[in-house]
Amino acid sequence: MHKKERTLAIIKPDAFESKCVGQIISVIEKAGLEIINMRLLRLSNNEASEFYSEHKSKPFFPDLIEYMTSGSVAVIELEAYNAVNLYRDILGATDPSKAAEGTIRKLFASSKQRNAAHGSDSTASAERELQFFFG
Ligand code: AMP
Repeated sequence: MHKKERTLAIIKPDAFESKCVGQIISVIEKAGLEIINMRLLRLSNNEASEFYSEHKSKPFFPDLIEYMTSGSVAVIELEAYNAVNLYRDILGATDPSKAAEGTIRKLFASSKQRNAAHGSDSTASAERELQFFFG
C-alpha cells in the first residue's frame, strides 16, 4: 500500500551565493513535493560534523564542513508518496557533470562539493535527518 513519506532537503550555501534558492524550491514544488517545514540557518562546525558523521574518514570531510558552514542553508521537510526517491530523482547525481538533464544539480550545481542541495538517501536516513533538524 502506498503511504505518504517525508524526506529532508537542504539548500546549500552555493545556491544562496548564486541566488537560485527560489528556483530550486520551484523545481521541488513542481515535482509534487509538499513543503511541510522549513528553516533558514547557519550550521555550526559541530552541527555540520554531526550531520555528516558518516563521512568523517573521507578525504573531502574537512572541506565539506568548511563549505557547509560558510553561509546560509535552508533545511526543508518535504512530503509526498515515495518522497525519498522522488526527491532524489529531481536532485540528480552528486557530481553535477553526471546529473541528468533538468535535475537540480544539473541546473544549479558547480562541482561535487558545491552541488546546490542535499537529499536523504533512504527512509532511515530521512528519519534521522528530519529528527536532527526538526526534532
Ligand atoms: P552524501 O552523503 O552522498 O549526500 O554526500 C555528502 C556531500 O559530500 C555531497 O553532497 C557533497 O557535497 C560532498 N561530497 C560527496 N562526495 C564528494 C567528493 N568525492 N568530493 C567532494 N565532495 C563530496
